[in-house]
This record gives sequence, structure tokens and C-alpha cells, in this order.
Amino acid sequence: MRKTKIVATIGPKTSSKEMLKLLIKAGVNIFRFNFSHGDHQFHRDILHSIREISAELNTPVATIQDLCGPKIRLTDLDHPFNVHNGDKISFSRSCNPSNTNLLSINHPEIFKNIHIGNLIYISDGTIQLKVLSVSENQVETTVLIGGVISSRKGVSFPDVNLNIPAITEKDIKDIEFGVKNNFDWIAVSFVKEKQDVENTRALIKKFGGNNLIISKIEKHEALANLDDIINVSDAIMVARGDLGVDVPIEKVPIIQKEIIKKSNISAKPVITATQMLLSMVKNDKPTRAEVSDIANAVLDGTDAVMLSDETTIGEYPVEAVTIMDKIITETEKHYPYFKTFPQTYSSAVVAFGAVTIAKELKAEVIAVFTQTGFTANQVARYRPSAPIVAIVNSREVYNNLILTWGVKPFILTEKGENTENIITKFIKKALKDNIINSSSCIVITIGSPFGNPGSTNAVRVIDKETIKKYL
Ligand code: PGA
Ligand code: MN
Repeated sequence: MRKTKIVATIGPKTSSKEMLKLLIKAGVNIFRFNFSHGDHQFHRDILHSIREISAELNTPVATIQDLCGPKIRLTDLDHPFNVHNGDKISFSRSCNPSNTNLLSINHPEIFKNIHIGNLIYISDGTIQLKVLSVSENQVETTVLIGGVISSRKGVSFPDVNLNIPAITEKDIKDIEFGVKNNFDWIAVSFVKEKQDVENTRALIKKFGGNNLIISKIEKHEALANLDDIINVSDAIMVARGDLGVDVPIEKVPIIQKEIIKKSNISAKPVITATQMLLSMVKNDKPTRAEVSDIANAVLDGTDAVMLSDETTIGEYPVEAVTIMDKIITETEKHYPYFKTFPQTYSSAVVAFGAVTIAKELKAEVIAVFTQTGFTANQVARYRPSAPIVAIVNSREVYNNLILTWGVKPFILTEKGENTENIITKFIKKALKDNIINSSSCIVITIGSPFGNPGSTNAVRVIDKETIKKYL
């Protein structure tokens, strides 16, 4: 079983049922819906298709609603135009269409935070400007690095702390839609501090949901508040696209390792995202560097790797997923299994105990009874070599655990009166479903008495002899 999960973003090239089916068969575990594009009807139709196909193939897939967030863009521009080093170009302090004399952005209020000497990047930093003066109506800049300026290009301010909320009016409407349509995860773009995550959670609650939250780390402010953000989030994304614009690009590899490490320590799933196989937008084979990038993210300890343009607008979406699957599978043969962490609370020590026992006994499976998914994430962070079967009783928790490294969720809706009883029910059903076999050694973590969330306190071993009693 492949342990590192694959997230694929849906777009024009992959919205048909045929394509979604091919992607799932090629190994996609989670689909990401990018709410920077497409209207609600577009997303609703695809969501229905995915649920239909996933039921038909009997392959559960999870879904992420990725909110647009306060992505700053140029307004519409009649035609692209060139700027050269040393040219002067100004921004309007109100939101109008842009033209070759005066650019305008969708959030002009941020100019109140801009001062002489600040940098402004256009198109992921390919064009760089420096602020010369700020007046009541305009911000004048000089071009440091020129290029082609065109309609709706992204604009960023790498050395300014912007005072705009991470959740826009559009995001609020989208969150309501995300809650109503039961996305498993809601991803928050441009998170800067824990308040952004807490506000999102409050909105989800207000709309009656309990969707889990992924914080996208793509702002320099978020790096300063990383511990707090991880603490209040359910999962993290290393959003290398915008991150590589907001901080010097050469810092991104080490930041990736740090974010992954901290997420692992906190037992929060982490996704490594953007440009992993970018050349496959046009080519049917990846570059050597891209193959290495995926392998290295896996070795860093990421729970999942993500495809964006490769599957939204790319010519070879299925090939991209297929090669990603191969790279992960090959890399996991050489994976640094069995990590250790400082132990902070008793359920973590129990999880560590289970992983250690499984290693010593060469168990085929670690079976984790979990009400909320918490213990499964705890066990996963030790990166055991045996697959983790997470026994849950709800579809929500099942889908959330699809993202976690090494976890294969398993639904057991039957109720057990006590620990013994529920273990018996699980083993009988897992034998029937071929999750385990008559000569498996299984290490189990469970709470006793059974059924209280957060009560994992016991490890049981069902060895090759004991399992015969359940046949
Ligand atoms: P995006 O986020 O694709 O929504 O911009 C990912 C990233 O910035 O890397
Ligand atoms: Mn981004």
C-alpha cells in the first residue's frame, strides 16, 4: 500500500466523469476544488460526479474546498504591454480598470500600508517594482525588473505586512457553500495568524458544519506565527507557489522541511504543493528535478503531494498522477520509518508503544480504534512500516483520514458493548473484507472502556495464533 497520499486539483481538463474516473484509478486520494475559478454550479456538478464515481468504483476519495482568499490581482487591462528596467509606472488608489498609464488592483485599500522603498511584484515576482512616492491618489513606482504586464496578474508585496483579512466576502459565501455540500476539508489561503483559522472555524460552525481546516502557508507573516497556526489547524499546506513569491525563493526548500517537521511533531497532516510536475503540463514525461522534488518531499515526511496545473490545464493529467504514484512507491521502499518524538501526553505514548510492538513483532497491520481520527494521526506520526487501519464509525472521519500518511480508514458501524466485543466484530469483518488474513499479526490500540473519544489507553496484540480463534 502506498503511504503518501496524492491530491489532484480539478480544472477544465479534468472535470468530465471519464477523466475523474481515470484519475481515481491512477491513484488520486483527494480532489482539490480551486474556488479562485469556477462558479458554484461548476463545483457542485463535479462534486456529484466524484461521489457517484467513487461509489461506483468502491474507492473513497476525499474533497478539499480551497478558498480564493485575498489574492491581490491587477484589474482588467485591454491589452498586455511591456515595461522595461527604469520605467516609471503608477498605481491608482481606487479600483478601476487598468491601462498602460495607470494600473489598478482589486484591493486598493492596502496601499495605505505602502511606503517609499517598498517592493511590489507582479506575476509571481517576474516583474519587480520599487515604490518612489505615495500620494493621495496614486502610488508611483520604478521598474527594477521589466516584463509583460497583462490582465488580472497576481500582485504581491513581499516586504509589507498587509492589513487585509484572510477571509473575503466571496470566501464567506463559498464557506457556506462548502459546508452545505459537505467538503471534507476547507483550505484557507494566505493565512497570516491563528485568528484567521479561528475566524474560519467560527464561520463553518455558524453555517452548521464541522469541516476540517487546512491552513495554507504562503505568506511571510504565517512563518512568524507557524506554531500557533499549526496548533489551531487540522492540517497544513506548504503552498510553495505564493510562498516562493512572498519570501526569497531560495529559502523555500528549507521552509518546506521546517513546516513538514513541525506538522509531523503536532500529528497534523501536511500537504506539499505546487509545480511538482509542472513540465508535464506540456510533456508526457517529468524532468529529473521534478522526480527528485517529489521523492524528497516524501522523505521530508509529507503526508501528501499535490498536483495543480498538471491536472487542471495540463495535457497529461493521468500520466502525472501515474508517475507520481510510481515515484512515491519507489521512494517508500527506502523510507526512514519509525520516527521518534518527544512524548507529551499518555495517548501519544500508547501510540508509540503500539508502533514499537508492531515493529518488534513484524505485525502486518496496526489497527487503531478512533472516534475523531486523533489517535490515527498520533500513530501515523511515528511513520510505522505496517499499514495503519483506522477503525471509525462515521463517513466524515473516514474521509478526513484519507489525507493522513499510511492510514487506510475502515468503517465499522456495528456497535460493541465492550472492548472485547468490538475487537471481535472488527476482526471478523476485516477478515471477510480481506483487510487482514488468517495468518496476520495485528497490533490494536483502543480505549477501554470503549467508546469515549480521547480515551486511547490500551494496546492489544492479536498474533498469528490468536487470530485463528476468530476464523
Ligand atoms: P494556489 O495555492 O494554487 O491556490 O495559489 C497553492 C500555492 O500557492 O502554492
Ligand atoms: Mn497560493
